[in-house]
Parts: sequence; structure tokens; C-alpha cells
Amino acid sequence: MTQIDEKIEPIFAEVLRRNAGEPEFHQAVREVLESLGRVIAKHPDYANDALIERICEPERQIIFRVPWVDDKGQVQINRGFRVQFNSALGPYKGGIRFHPSVNLGIVKFLGFEQTFKNALTGMPIGGGKGGSDFDPRGRSDGEIMRFCQSFMTELYRHIGEYTDVPAGDIGVGGREIGYLFGQYKRLTNRYEAGVLTGKGLVYGGSRARTEATGYGAVYFVERMLATRKLELAGKRVVVSGAGNVAIYTMEKILAFGGKIVACSDSSGYVSDETGIDLGLVKEIKEVRRQRISEYARRKGTGTHYVEGGSIWDVPCDIAMPSATQNEVTGKDARALVKNNVIAVGEGANMPCTPDAVNIFQNAGVLFAPGKAANAGGVATSALEMQQNASRDSWTFARTEERLATIMRDIHDACAETAEEYGAPGDYVLGANIAGFVRVAEAMRAMGVV
Ligand code: NDP
Repeated sequence: MTQIDEKIEPIFAEVLRRNAGEPEFHQAVREVLESLGRVIAKHPDYANDALIERICEPERQIIFRVPWVDDKGQVQINRGFRVQFNSALGPYKGGIRFHPSVNLGIVKFLGFEQTFKNALTGMPIGGGKGGSDFDPRGRSDGEIMRFCQSFMTELYRHIGEYTDVPAGDIGVGGREIGYLFGQYKRLTNRYEAGVLTGKGLVYGGSRARTEATGYGAVYFVERMLATRKLELAGKRVVVSGAGNVAIYTMEKILAFGGKIVACSDSSGYVSDETGIDLGLVKEIKEVRRQRISEYARRKGTGTHYVEGGSIWDVPCDIAMPSATQNEVTGKDARALVKNNVIAVGEGANMPCTPDAVNIFQNAGVLFAPGKAANAGGVATSALEMQQNASRDSWTFARTEERLATIMRDIHDACAETAEEYGAPGDYVLGANIAGFVRVAEAMRAMGVV
């Protein structure tokens, strides 16, 4: 682990004290603070007025009860969260996650990351995140709808197109956004399209939003490879997960001529030496909502399903972790390096442990951190807000072109910042510093906020 600068160390100690029992939040804060030593060495002003301390403290944290009735008529209770982390650059913006592992610490880590990610996009959006410990797996459509309606019955009073604009995340896709939007509209009697993003096309969604996070991550990796005169065509790629980010990462890799050799869900992974058939994955996951094991059962020859195994044991040139936080451990990173991985692009938020990141960087593996590589989703959400505000609807090609340009700009900003601060090729440092400087500048201009 890199050391935190001695001037910043007390700030981290205070973060640990004030946020006890939130290891993911500590991990995310630590990674950013590790990068800031070089910033205050160059610009000591950033250490003034408790600016860094304020950036580590969410502006507002909301926790609420979500009661709902299941199909058997039983009353169920979940906990809902919305952490409005930082609004220096614009309304809070960030997804909602439905997963049993959700707690305040997870939502705070995601909101903190989101603040810098959103800053990197160069768009006028602050950072926030929300969710619930609700487990959507195995729930009927009716149960999902009733849960979403109850969740929004509290959330609606805290959000708005100029206040806070949620979107999807793990367990929240187009179906859930539809139910959430429908309930918001009923409660407020307003057709406020810009209050949520990731909407369906027929009621104010943006083309290419569904694809944006995965496509964007691939654009980032493509540009990163180009710095070493390498390309995606012909490369073996492992993508973890089989959800929104994973599926559209696979789609773009295929478009660039890469070969997908494995993907997964939370039960296990499937490898396919003939190349993963994305159409089949989509049918299993997007239409039938089944387990990935079904892939091996349906496709047969050449496929291999491993229940509970590590997908990172499958040899590849490029690894794109796109499921969840801390899914790539030090052990996994060593296995990937041993198999000569060239590049790792984080599609998920913080999927690599700090140990794993060190192993990749020390081995000279190109490493794209999530807050830069997966920023294409939120950037396209901001494009959705722009279309909603102007009551316009862009073509797929126009939207994707903007996405590609934004990802190129994020890549270059990270690379140039890393160079400027004496660490060429260190995209973690570049992303953290470039994001921090934008948020910090806006906060300084606004006085003590
Ligand atoms: P989805 O719910 O669509 O898919 C998540 C996938 O990851 C599923 O295959 C799921 O398997 C698997 N998964 C979830 N939790 C775990 C776990 N604890 N262990 C192993 N596998 C798990 O979510 P998204 O694709 O939207 O999100 C994936 C990641 O990308 C998250 O980190 C999210 O924060 C991040 N992200 C998403 C963005 C977006 O636009 N959607 C934008 C930027 C980042 P199973 O079905 O079995 O649970």
C-alpha cells in the first residue's frame, strides 16, 4: 500500500474515527488521499480551510424504512439509503443499487467515488448514490414494482432535476427505473423527465444509455492500449459479471475484434474457448433472468461452468472486472499477471482490492481505474438530462459519438495529469488528482460550503 502524505494522515485518521465499521468507504477515501500528497506538495493551498476534510464528508445522508407487501401477502421491510455526497459541480448524480449487501458504508464509498468520476466527465453533475438491502433475485415483477413504489414514496421528497438525479446500478435496470419514475410522477403530479436517468426510450430515455458504461469502458481501454501501440483486435478478454456493464462491454469488445473467453454471475463463471456467444448470454440474462450456468447447459461443447470458482484463473490478455467491489483480490491479480495479462479495465466500481492494483502496477500492466473507465454511463446520463431539458432526442450515432469523445478526453486528462504530477502511466493517480482538482476548485470558489 502507498503511504499517505504525513500532512494528510491526520485527515484519514479522522475519517476512520468518524466512519467506524465502513471498510469500503475507508478503502475508497484512502486511495484518493494517497494521491493527494503530490497535489499539496505542488499547491499547498489545497490543504487550507479543511477543504480535503470537507470533501470526505457527505453533504447529506438519508436512511429510511421501505415497507412493502410480497406475493404471499406478508409485510416485508427493507432499508433505503441516499447519500448526497457533493453538489459543488451540479445536482447530485449517481445510481441506486438493490442488493442484500447494501449498507451505509457501501453507499458512501460509491457516492465518494461518484463525486470524482462525475468531475472527470467535465459535465455539470455532483456526486451521490443510493440503494437498498432489498434482494431482487427470485422476486416477481409485481413484488419488484411494489418495492420500487414504496422506495420512491420516501425518496421523492429528496430528489429533483435540479437537486438530485438517480439512475440504475446493480439490481436496478430499465424495469426498475420505469416503476420508480411512474411513482415519482404520481406523487408529484409533474412530468419531470430529468429527475431520473436510464429511462425507457418511449418516456424520455436516451439512446445508448443502456450500452454506455460498457461501451465507454472499452473505448477507454482501447485508448490506453494505443499508448503502447496495441489494439483490441485478436485479444482474449475475460469479463466478469453478466449484467448491464458486462454485457455491453462484451458487445463493444466483439465490435473491436476481440474474443470473449469467459463471463460470470454471483454463482460461478462460464468459459468458452470458441468465444462467448453474446446473443445467448443476453437471452439468458436480459430476457429469461436465469443463472449463467444455463449458458453451459444450452451451448454444450467447448464450454465449461465452474460453480464458485475464480474467473481470473482463465488466461487472458485483457481483464475487465464488471460485477462488484473487491472481486479481484491479490491472489487473482497474481494469477492474471502469471498468465501475462496486458491490461485491466475496471467496469465495476472498485472491483480490484488495493493489493491487486499494486500487483498490476508493479508488473507494468496497464490499469484503468473504475472512476475513469466506467464514467461513460454517468456521462451519457448527463446527455440524457441535456436531451430532457431541451425536449430533444438524439440519434444513437450522435449519442455514441459524444460518449466516445468524452471517454477519450477522460483518458487523456488522466494520462496528462499523471505525467504532470511525475507519475506517467499511473491512471489511478491521474484520475484521482484530475477529479479532485475540479471539485476542489469549485468548492473554493463557493467559500466555506
Ligand atoms: P447488474 O445488476 O446489471 O449486474 C451485476 C452483475 O454482477 C450480475 O451478473 C451479478 O450476478 C454480478 N454480481 C453482483 N454482485 C455480485 C457479487 N457480490 N459477487 C459476484 N457477482 C456479483 O449491475 P451493473 O452491471 O449495472 O453494475 C455492475 C458494476 O458496475 C457495479 O460495480 C456498478 O456499481 C458498476 N457501474 C454500473 C454502472 C451502470 O451504468 N449500470 C455505471 C458505472 C458503474 P447476479 O445476477 O448473480 O447477482
